[in-house]
Amino acid sequence: MMKIAIDAGHGPNTAGKRCPDDSMREFAFNAAVAYYVREDLVKYSGVSVLFTHAADGSRDVPLSERVRAANGWSADIFVSIHANAAGNGWSDASGIETFASVNASAASVKLAEAVQRRLIEETGRRDRGVKRSDFYVIKNTAMPAILVEAGFMTNRTEAELLKSDGYRRKVATAIVGAIVRLYGLKPKEEPKVIEEPEKAGRLEATVKVNGTALAEKGYVEKGVTYVPVRAVAEALGAKVKWDGAAKTVEITR
Ligand SMILES: [Zn+2]
Repeated sequence: MMKIAIDAGHGPNTAGKRCPDDSMREFAFNAAVAYYVREDLVKYSGVSVLFTHAADGSRDVPLSERVRAANGWSADIFVSIHANAAGNGWSDASGIETFASVNASAASVKLAEAVQRRLIEETGRRDRGVKRSDFYVIKNTAMPAILVEAGFMTNRTEAELLKSDGYRRKVATAIVGAIVRLYGLKPKEEPKVIEEPEKAGRLEATVKVNGTALAEKGYVEKGVTYVPVRAVAEALGAKVKWDGAAKTVEITR
């Protein structure tokens, strides 16, 4: 059983937490990503998710209450989702950064690094790296805890991304992908031979890397074996980059 606390920062009416032209409140982004993260995570076996924010946006839950909820529930990890700001007007600062607290455990740092790496791969935004700061919710939670700043509301380009459903889903996919990989979560459904007519003849296959079976399955079709390239390459210590425009998978080591 893995208990995952997801925290969408602020509330809809929190002062200042919005785009300079008030076209988006930070909470709208944070809460949408939190929703998609939960939607994806519950597809994995033995996972339960707790929201420490008010998902209906009825209030900005105080930080101490968020921490008490996560600690009281004995969450295994805590992920706080935010959008960044640099000053009050539009500015050039851009990119994604993930925080662990100043005295964070090794497990927190590992989680921060995994999520940050996956966020950059998934979105292609500028990598501001993993940073240390004693934000209240990550300093006072008792489990590995990180705070993600997934782009700048004060940057015109990133504000448009933060408002878009596609970007919100990418951010959620990255967070979930990093957690699944790091903690070895397994999908709920038992793997079985795919029976849809259009996929007939496809045989699902377990893929092992150095003796360990991957959560992701491969398959064999017409004598060719297909394996999940990201899972395999990352298990071997390589990096995988998907260039959607060029439809190219690039593997580097
Ligand atoms: Zn925030």
